Amino acid sequence: MQKILISACLMGNLVRYDGQHRLATSEILKHWQQEGRLIAVCPELSGGLSVPRLPAEIQSGNGWTVLTGTTQVNDSEANDVSSEFIRGAQLALELAQRHSVRIAILKEGSPSCGSTQIYDGTFTGRKTAGFGVTAALLMQHGIRVFSELEIAQALAHLRALEPHSQ
Ligand code: SF4
Repeated sequence: MQKILISACLMGNLVRYDGQHRLATSEILKHWQQEGRLIAVCPELSGGLSVPRLPAEIQSGNGWTVLTGTTQVNDSEANDVSSEFIRGAQLALELAQRHSVRIAILKEGSPSCGSTQIYDGTFTGRKTAGFGVTAALLMQHGIRVFSELEIAQALAHLRALEPHSQ
């Protein structure tokens, strides 16, 4: 059975920077959880940051440019937290590879987990097209990343990989 990596905050875990969660209410996710498919991960916590923590944004660029050291992730007090973000991404990849994961459902908008949009680095609430550090590393290793807004697409992809799944 294909396992699916999922952002821990989407599972209701209180791991966000502000100590909150972003529980995703989806029958498909509920079913996958009952099947034991879901593997929750919070890259920022596993990378060494705590709850609560200051919000952080990629300072121009995206997850790729952070991974290659071209740009960095700063928190709202201008501390460079790139190494924690990169470490968290590496641990998420290791976890995914240990379980032969080929699909991830990651929280949209996050500097770690966002897959189509991230905040633009100005801490003004403006978003820009791009993806976070963990999303970038997973994609680089052939894992399909979907957001919580694309669960139906993730299901279609799962069915292509595993035709007998429900
Ligand atoms: Fe959720 Fe990912 Fe942020 Fe952790 S790093 S709180 S899993 S969006």
